[in-house]
Amino acid sequence: MKIILVLNAGSSSVKFALIGIGKEGEEQDLARGAFDGIGQVSRWSVKRFDGLANKEITISNGMASNHKEAVSHILTWIDQNYGLASLTAAGHRVVHGGADFIQPVRLDAQTIAALRTLVPLAPLHQPHNLAAIDSLNELAPALPQMACFDTAFHATIPDIGRQFALPRAITALGVKRYGFHGLSYSYIANELARQNAGLAKGRVLVAHLGNGASLCAMRGGQSIATTMGFSALDGLMMGTRTGSIDPAVIFYLMRDQKMTADDVEAMLYQKSGLLGVSGLSNDMRTLREAAGNNRSAREAIDMFTYRIVREAGAMIAVMGGIDALVFTAGIGENDPELRADVIKGLEFAGFSLDETANNAKNRKISTAMGPVALVVPTNEEVMIARETAVLIDRDHK
Ligand code: ADP
Repeated sequence: MKIILVLNAGSSSVKFALIGIGKEGEEQDLARGAFDGIGQVSRWSVKRFDGLANKEITISNGMASNHKEAVSHILTWIDQNYGLASLTAAGHRVVHGGADFIQPVRLDAQTIAALRTLVPLAPLHQPHNLAAIDSLNELAPALPQMACFDTAFHATIPDIGRQFALPRAITALGVKRYGFHGLSYSYIANELARQNAGLAKGRVLVAHLGNGASLCAMRGGQSIATTMGFSALDGLMMGTRTGSIDPAVIFYLMRDQKMTADDVEAMLYQKSGLLGVSGLSNDMRTLREAAGNNRSAREAIDMFTYRIVREAGAMIAVMGGIDALVFTAGIGENDPELRADVIKGLEFAGFSLDETANNAKNRKISTAMGPVALVVPTNEEVMIARETAVLIDRDHK
């Protein structure tokens, strides 16, 4: 069995998963964990799904002042529990692959340098991904490392949907729609192909609704449109991000309200969305609990739903109709009320909700009439492990 270390580094956290892949491609979740609060009061937690089934180990303490210390801690834990030598390779989630990286790639000095040039395209994410890559390079130089990109799945979007209506010279700088959540979308596309091959060939709209949220329109399992754009700020309303707004708002805030670019950026990424509108929380569960007697919480949920329906309408038009709608990620998988409201909003496209199935957490939540609505749990870590294993096999041939 190959054991793949999957790393997903954010600004203050490094999440990891150990995924086993057998000879026949069978996959096994061995362990998952995270180092949160890097640079502040760190919290380390890990859960094993093999041998010591479902044993959660949580240690809270200030232990990692930077990404390298967090990665080092993860490696030490792996060494104590599995032995570092058992690792076949590491796969990193890398948010931006730019125009060139439309497939997973093996990391070496050249590819790492190329990924560094993309930092200006994703300044809030790419540096942290690179920090984890650099750390692992230093701490385990013999371990092959791969990068798997959130943008790559959207390489099939045609230019007409990819370009902004900007002067060509600006487009040539790379200012265009890249789209994100691609590892989640490719996992869902694979699951559909496995479970509903006929449906997977059709017009499928996937709603990835977590803290970050986006829609992806697929035909034949390929992305043809998505709501996120140049950055992960565009499109749907999210936990703390605005989603699309009129760019003139930004000029107004800077010129008339004297906010700096950094202030506006922080507001649009971290203080808006469900959190900004509700004034309460970015967490859908908290908002659902409060919505009964808190108008702002109710309005935040209603806006979140409205924006999904509105963008879904545009995606359905682009696909020329719809055969299936798939809900995934934290909210998509766990919030039946949200799914019901979205499906009701899409009745114009023929959808009909099976309420019992929806509340029972069934996979299929539509009635026999009209297009199919499904709930399919996503698994970005497994997607990264798969892509990493494929690259390793290719290198060894
Ligand atoms: P991330 O984008 O950080 O990976 P997730 O996919 O884990 O996020 O989704 C997080 C969101 O899912 C949060 O808004 C959380 O409230 C929501 N969520 C999780 N469980 C439920 C639930 N049972 N009901 C409603 N929302 C839920």
